[in-house]
Amino acid sequence: MHSKDIAIIGAGPAGLIAAERLAQAGHRVTIHDRMASPARKFLLAGRGGLNLTHSEPLETFLPHYGAARDALEPAIMAFPPQALRDWADGLGAESFVGSTGRVFPKAMKASPLLRAWLRRLDGLGVRLETGRRWTGWDEAGALTFATASGETVTLTPDATLLALGGASWPRLGSDGGWVPLLAEKGVAVAPLRPANGGFAVAWSDTLRERFAGAPLKRIALRFAGKQVVGEAMIDAHGLEGGAIYALSGPLREAIARDGSATLHIDLRPDLDLARLTEKLGKRRPGETLSNHLRKAAGLSPAAVAVLRDSVGSRLDETPAALAAAIKSAPLRLTGTMPIDRAISSAGGIVASEIDDCFMLRRLPGVFVAGEMLDWEAPTGGYLLQGCFATGVAAAAGMVGWLRRDAG
Ligand SMILES: Cc1cc2nc3c(=O)[nH]c(=O)nc-3n(C[C@H](O)[C@H](O)[C@H](O)COP(=O)(O)OP(=O)(O)OC[C@H]3O[C@@H](n4cnc5c(N)ncnc54)[C@H](O)[C@@H]3O)c2cc1C
Repeated sequence: MHSKDIAIIGAGPAGLIAAERLAQAGHRVTIHDRMASPARKFLLAGRGGLNLTHSEPLETFLPHYGAARDALEPAIMAFPPQALRDWADGLGAESFVGSTGRVFPKAMKASPLLRAWLRRLDGLGVRLETGRRWTGWDEAGALTFATASGETVTLTPDATLLALGGASWPRLGSDGGWVPLLAEKGVAVAPLRPANGGFAVAWSDTLRERFAGAPLKRIALRFAGKQVVGEAMIDAHGLEGGAIYALSGPLREAIARDGSATLHIDLRPDLDLARLTEKLGKRRPGETLSNHLRKAAGLSPAAVAVLRDSVGSRLDETPAALAAAIKSAPLRLTGTMPIDRAISSAGGIVASEIDDCFMLRRLPGVFVAGEMLDWEAPTGGYLLQGCFATGVAAAAGMVGWLRRDAG
């Protein structure tokens, strides 16, 4: 066994799981991160319960990776959702399946799991260097880092793993600053764009002032032949939340192509058009339209406001027309919300730059994993599963490459 020096840059889930595997394989591993403490985004994900993965069978799980499915499938097959659950269970963060099939640790947060994980890494001899920003390579090919105190550190490990994340929530560490560093080496990187983020809507002043922050519960959103049932949240500048995140890929592409996209909201997906028309047929004399919509159609004040905004407030008040508008309120989205507020990023290192071992074809000995690769997926646990699986695959690739290199 030839123990080698490995530098892992990025202490997010992809980098940490790779560190664990490489140290277990007997290598000397140091993780470098620009932040003062590791896994900040993982900890933030824990605020939403830490949706680790999804319990559905692989034949429905894998299509969530869309165009990137082929590139990710071998890694996910080698480290599938059950392996991730077993791993979390092994760290004392016993997982459970929620009502929607999503998998969470019972504690519904990331901190106990992260603490146990860091203890395990420490026990394996993994070193963690924080406050070290990777700045590229020097002329001799050594990795260069800027330390918090302004010094430059250079390193020449036997192999390197880049696990630097995407560009959402940059204040947590992943700011996409690696893109020009790899582009300089000729590595093709698809532009980082917001994924699982909100969209801008030119709300009326009334709606913005009265309903920013209000939820739209049990709605269905339709775009380009796809319907998503769920919740959204009115924001002063647009619409946020799980249901719209699930459509964020096609909406983002349509806005980039056409300048805007029109989404249709069904504000009562549980009632069909005929039943809703019937309910709206009973209106008390003198009753205001808002009260009628609240009582007969069961719409919340926020939903009534969205309905009015969607038609520019000239609502046809006949029962059939109202029912049709409630079932399909058009909403024009004029842009994406900024990437720093998105859950994840689309874009990254394109698949053709990476070999089967997750090594960069142009930079032998440099491996890549996690959200910095060119893939996207909806929320539901698919993001962390993709990061863990590619981290495990890159570690396996490095172990094999170092062995071949040694002999
Ligand atoms: C609010 C929120 C909630 C989320 N909830 C979920 C969820 O419930 N389920 C789910 O599946 N996913 C969730 N995600 C997404 C998930 O957290 C990310 O996809 C995942 O953390 C990406 O892992 P990664 O290891 O690739 O990168 P990251 O976790 O982003 O880690 C990259 C690391 O690299 C470091 N780094 C970057 N550049 C440099 C540099 N130049 N030098 C040194 N270090 C550097 C960063 O400091 C960071 O620590 C959520 C994201 C957000 C923002």
